[in-house]
Amino acid sequence: MSSPRQLTVRSSLAQPDQTSRARSWATSATVRSVMVANKKKNTTPELRLRAELHRLGLRYRVHAKPVPGVVADVVFRPKRVAVFVDGCFWHGCETHGTWPAVNRHYWQAKISGNILRDRRVDDLLVVAGWRSVRVWEHEPVIGAAIRIYDLVRIGQGRERPAVG
Ligand SMILES: [Zn+2]
Repeated sequence: MSSPRQLTVRSSLAQPDQTSRARSWATSATVRSVMVANKKKNTTPELRLRAELHRLGLRYRVHAKPVPGVVADVVFRPKRVAVFVDGCFWHGCETHGTWPAVNRHYWQAKISGNILRDRRVDDLLVVAGWRSVRVWEHEPVIGAAIRIYDLVRIGQGRERPAVG
């Protein structure tokens, strides 16, 4: 299955220099604690996606819990669609997710743990009858928004498994 994860396009959700900046941050031990604390909501890619979804006429809840214990970035409760905007660094994007040289094992464990957790969350949602949409911060915002729009408005992809 051709994965949207492979998309690397110009008008990306991330600022042009964002991923390279994240990478250079990670090599600096001084800023590492900032990065950990920096796993926050309302990141620029997330805000851009929300703005685009809104522009398409979609209404949603932000940082809501589709199921107990899971907070999604954008939630369409009536349609049971939960959207997560995944940062390339934190979620191990295959294109931009190079692991820092400094404290490599720490980051390897950390990011692998994040990826496993993402999959568990996806499984949890599917079991509960939800569809989980993962959007990479590097994805073109229009494409990501349309993908979500299709799921929410048209219901396209309902029969497709959300994972695997
Ligand atoms: Zn990426």
